[in-house]
Amino acid sequence: MGTKADAVIIGGGIIGMAIAFHLARENYGRVVLLEKEQFLGSWSTSKAAGGIRAQFSSKVNIQMSMLSEKLFCSFKEDTGSDALFDQVGYMFLLTTDQDVASFTKSVELQRSLGLAIDILKPEEIAQYAPHVRTDDVKAATFCKNDGLADPHEFLSGYERAARKLGVDIRLETEVAGLTKTGDKITEVVTNQGTISCGTVINAAGPFARQIGDMIGSDVRVEPIRRQCVTTGQLDFVKPYFPMVVDVASGLYCHKESKGLLLGWADSSVQPSMDISVDPDYTDSILERALDRMPQLETAEVANSWAGLYETTPDHRAIIGFEPSVSGLFHAVGFSGHGLMHAPAAGQLTAEILTGKEPSIDITGLSPERFAKGELVEETNVI
Ligand SMILES: Cc1cc2nc3c(=O)[nH]c(=O)nc-3n(C[C@H](O)[C@H](O)[C@H](O)COP(=O)(O)OP(=O)(O)OC[C@H]3O[C@@H](n4cnc5c(N)ncnc54)[C@H](O)[C@@H]3O)c2cc1C
Repeated sequence: MGTKADAVIIGGGIIGMAIAFHLARENYGRVVLLEKEQFLGSWSTSKAAGGIRAQFSSKVNIQMSMLSEKLFCSFKEDTGSDALFDQVGYMFLLTTDQDVASFTKSVELQRSLGLAIDILKPEEIAQYAPHVRTDDVKAATFCKNDGLADPHEFLSGYERAARKLGVDIRLETEVAGLTKTGDKITEVVTNQGTISCGTVINAAGPFARQIGDMIGSDVRVEPIRRQCVTTGQLDFVKPYFPMVVDVASGLYCHKESKGLLLGWADSSVQPSMDISVDPDYTDSILERALDRMPQLETAEVANSWAGLYETTPDHRAIIGFEPSVSGLFHAVGFSGHGLMHAPAAGQLTAEILTGKEPSIDITGLSPERFAKGELVEETNVI
């Protein structure tokens, strides 16, 4: 193959594609994106539930989401493609005093950063999410600007725009190694030949650690299985039904097609690449859903799937240059927030690589934080 590139992006999921688009828009030079599968987005991106929210506990994640939501809104203008960001809102149901206290603290931080967010009384919930049981709910947080996005629409919008801007997207091209000269990466070795490169961007999602291992870098990302279920048609689900998260049980649900999408993060799942659907896991999701929405008694399961969260120890992404080797940049470990943070990750990566001041301070996401022991846990994870 014998190609030369200014930037080689490893991974054609939503993160790699957003970076490709933003780098090309900044005229970074020759950008090549490598995807080992036959289709873009085959791994985590195609499994995402589509939730987009700015309700986080850490400043950097709130700001990442606020920047992303702005970019989701201007997507058509920026890329030329239609992709729906359905701002139906995002609600957290709080049933314990402890959760009310910690979410109230987060709301203060969110408001200080300019986020429009309400704290609802139990009797105010039904206007947004009728049929949700509220007898044990003490309060709920609701951000009306949050909502839902279709991962495929945004991925293919980025793809079309990136191709138009000259990005060379290569499918079925697997990175097998990285070659160093001195302390700098100079070549990407693939099953289709080698590419001499300036910068390599690790956007390999759940495979991020394997890319790091190729060059002796300890990328602290673990793949963890997460499952979702969709129901058949449900007449009580209205078009304005938001994303609803039952904080105590971990259940989340939102409208999907003519029914609901239901999901839950089982904290007992151990890291692995297993993406088989576990029927017990599905049953646990359904039990939690039925408890929160008794009207689901008659619902039918339409579909279920499993995918991988790419999880870091503090549930915050890793975005920045690898300290142990020159020329390697990571944009990985989005810990279940990769769809919602992709536009921001794309723009910020392009800003950093072109030597601009990043729009927001993301030093808290740097790869060095693990060695320095400077971890600030994101507590609002689903
Ligand atoms: C069930 C579930 C629900 C979720 N819900 C949400 C949600 O509601 N909101 C949200 O924001 N996020 C959600 N997420 C998380 C989100 O899907 C991910 O954070 C996001 O898709 C990560 O994108 P990515 O591009 O980093 O990874 P991926 O989409 O996995 O892309 C990485 C790509 O790298 C490729 N690759 C890996 N190694 C190599 C190699 N050696 N050579 C070439 N290519 C390689 C892979 O084939 C893959 O296509 C959910 C995830 C799951 C599993």
